[in-house]
Amino acid sequence: MQDFDFAIIGAGIAGVSAAYHLAPQLASGGRVVILEREHVPAYHTTGRSAALHSETYGNASIRAITVASGRFYRQPPAGFTDHPLLTPRGAIVAGRAEQEAAIKAAAADYAQLVPSVRWLDPAEVLHLQPLLKPEAASGGAVFEPEADDMDVAAIHAGFLKGARAAGGVLRLNAEVTALDRKDGRWTIRLRDGESVSAANIVNASGAWADVLGALAGCAPIGLVPKRRTAFTFDSPQGLDLTHLPMVIDFDESFYFKPEVGQFLGSLADETPSPPCDAQPEEIDVATAVDRIETASTLTIRRIKNKWAGLRSFVADKSLVAGYDPKVEGFFWLAGQGGYGIQTAAAAGRLATNLALGKGLPVDIASLGVAEAALSPARFTAPFTAK
Ligand SMILES: Cc1cc2nc3c(=O)[nH]c(=O)nc-3n(C[C@H](O)[C@H](O)[C@H](O)COP(=O)(O)OP(=O)(O)OC[C@H]3O[C@@H](n4cnc5c(N)ncnc54)[C@H](O)[C@@H]3O)c2cc1C
Repeated sequence: MQDFDFAIIGAGIAGVSAAYHLAPQLASGGRVVILEREHVPAYHTTGRSAALHSETYGNASIRAITVASGRFYRQPPAGFTDHPLLTPRGAIVAGRAEQEAAIKAAAADYAQLVPSVRWLDPAEVLHLQPLLKPEAASGGAVFEPEADDMDVAAIHAGFLKGARAAGGVLRLNAEVTALDRKDGRWTIRLRDGESVSAANIVNASGAWADVLGALAGCAPIGLVPKRRTAFTFDSPQGLDLTHLPMVIDFDESFYFKPEVGQFLGSLADETPSPPCDAQPEEIDVATAVDRIETASTLTIRRIKNKWAGLRSFVADKSLVAGYDPKVEGFFWLAGQGGYGIQTAAAAGRLATNLALGKGLPVDIASLGVAEAALSPARFTAPFTAK
């Protein structure tokens, strides 16, 4: 049986970013293994995102972790990648006249963390994004000029390459089926009958995080996987997509964005689902097509590609990063929701610090992120004396 210091379960973006930061931190001889059930990494949610890095998306804690991640993605360490991880896109969150006050308030709120964010009046919105119909932008928009497209494959590959260079090991076709703790070590049983031993587990299993927690005897964190559908379609002939921003409606009931010579669209659906290999529903694609055609001058004649993925949230929609309060050596890295790629660089780093008992990195804490607000202990009912 192979022995490791840390066994990370899941080779999505959460698992590989944790491995990237953790592997070089271990004393010589200490090692990290990533155990992934599928025959390729990033098969589930990580391979199915819309690939936007938005510092105005999510709650205050998520936005702060996204800002910290952006610093890494904009200037990754030498050798991480040979081309940019982020490319400028810009995003507008547009709404109707009756939403104007709320849109202005949101812009002012986001600008506290990201000063370049501002409210655009309806004419400015249509100038920047001429595909929108005037009624869809009559309340103006929150404009985030520094929202970027992410190269998710390059980010994932960079983390994995770095983790391996520091001695980390990736095992594919390695589904974890049982977890037993004895004498300060985990015995991790795999579907093929093999076992691996590790002092600590990092649960980065995405939609399956509560399933893995239950195998270890942990109380659930109440994770709810929610299906989101996306698809691509042709852009109008001759349209230059280079400088067209992404469009999200203020109610988040659809979005569309230029995507390598075509458009990516979504209903922005959040349908609760058991953890599974999520598949798109025709009705969700059709509803999204209708909403995009109603709000814009785009005509969607043919869906080129469609897919769905699970965005998994806990009740407060923040990340869960920390050791289980009751089960020794079991570290949660879950609840990435709709922000798992944009937060990954900083999430992996803060998880590493917490897993090694070093507290939150100072730069991340100074953005307003609190260890207690990430801890799985926040889901444990407080003890009440009888
Ligand atoms: C349509 C859509 C759009 C999105 N857009 C964005 C976006 O623009 N920006 C952004 O930042 N995020 C976006 N997201 C969210 C983002 O994709 C997720 O937050 C992120 O990918 C979650 O990564 P993860 O590593 O936690 O999960 P996953 O990628 O699902 O990885 C978990 C892994 O654990 C493995 N696993 C599970 N159980 C076991 C087991 N028992 N044994 C071994 N392995 C196991 C799984 O096989 C899986 O590979 C989007 C998601 C969707 C669906």
